[in-house]
Amino acid sequence: MTEKEYHTETDDGMKKFTSDGKVKMLSTEADVNQKLSSIIGEKFIEYRKKFEAASNFQLETEFPLYIQIELHQICNLKCPMCSIGHPDENQKYVSDDKMSWETYKKVILECEKYGCPSMNPQGINEPLLTPDFEKYIKFASINNISNNSKKFQNDCEYMYKTKTYERIKIFQNQDIDNISYINGIFVEPIINIINKIDWNKIISTAIPANFHGDLQPENIIVSKDNTVFLIDWRESFGTDLNIGDLYYDLSKLYHGLLINGTIVKEKKFSVNIENNQAKISYLSKDNLIEFNKKLELFCQNHQIEYNHVKLLGILHYVNIAEFYMKTEPEYSKFIFLLGKLLMSEYLNKLEK
Ligand code: SF4
Repeated sequence: MTEKEYHTETDDGMKKFTSDGKVKMLSTEADVNQKLSSIIGEKFIEYRKKFEAASNFQLETEFPLYIQIELHQICNLKCPMCSIGHPDENQKYVSDDKMSWETYKKVILECEKYGCPSMNPQGINEPLLTPDFEKYIKFASINNISNNSKKFQNDCEYMYKTKTYERIKIFQNQDIDNISYINGIFVEPIINIINKIDWNKIISTAIPANFHGDLQPENIIVSKDNTVFLIDWRESFGTDLNIGDLYYDLSKLYHGLLINGTIVKEKKFSVNIENNQAKISYLSKDNLIEFNKKLELFCQNHQIEYNHVKLLGILHYVNIAEFYMKTEPEYSKFIFLLGKLLMSEYLNKLEK
């Protein structure tokens, strides 16, 4: 879809959009398909071109370009023109049956096999009444029923896995990485620790969202009238300028609540290394501990895995240690050892 194919005009502040000269859509903003094209890119543009052609009977595809799945026929409204809201029709056509998870998976995997790029898990019903609805969307997304899920997964792999393996190289086989005990806890060389991370889970748990990229407390400003401003936005997430992982932002927040900029600036941390053993400590601020509890509660209330936020937050420590090697070598050592210690503790817990 190109700008030319869309006839746009302004009428009382509203913009009219049409791709066939017949159906016209009104919006105060940009046309939704142009907006999505600018975010998702080429694959979405191709998909919409085919969709338009198929809608105008100019193209017949082997498999539908778009599927609509009704997981159930339940709705909390009773609109009079709908079979759910109309008593006679309701009796005749509506049932309490729900699609099983197994059937849903079968449909999605068939769609994947035929390269179906788009699905809508809704029909005549209210889809959000499915308690674990997110699970259904994720299954479709990781099985490529989306115009850009592969790209998003590649960006996640780069942001989490590739970067970590690159950045730990400088510490490998160095004295600091040969330390076997940190605060009395046994730790393996960093490469062994990193090899135990379940990268596939990190990629499949990621949630595409508009992202900030460095959401630590110092970058959140609250004005006197309680307006929240976010500053210092990261320019991209991997190759994407608009979409990142929701967990990435939350994990940045977590990592900034545990060790924040003031602790670093005021050097309120310590590292002592003796006989292949290290002791590290740092100041924890009461208000930040309190904010961390709020973050955990926020995650619980929004079906977000707090433990996963924690894992990625710890990963940030391992990742940033390299940056401070020349300018703040003591802090670099501290943050590297802290990352190793917390990651070892986290992975040990998983193994139990
Ligand atoms: S499914 Fe849609 S149209 Fe039908 S009752 Fe619910 S909200 Fe109304």
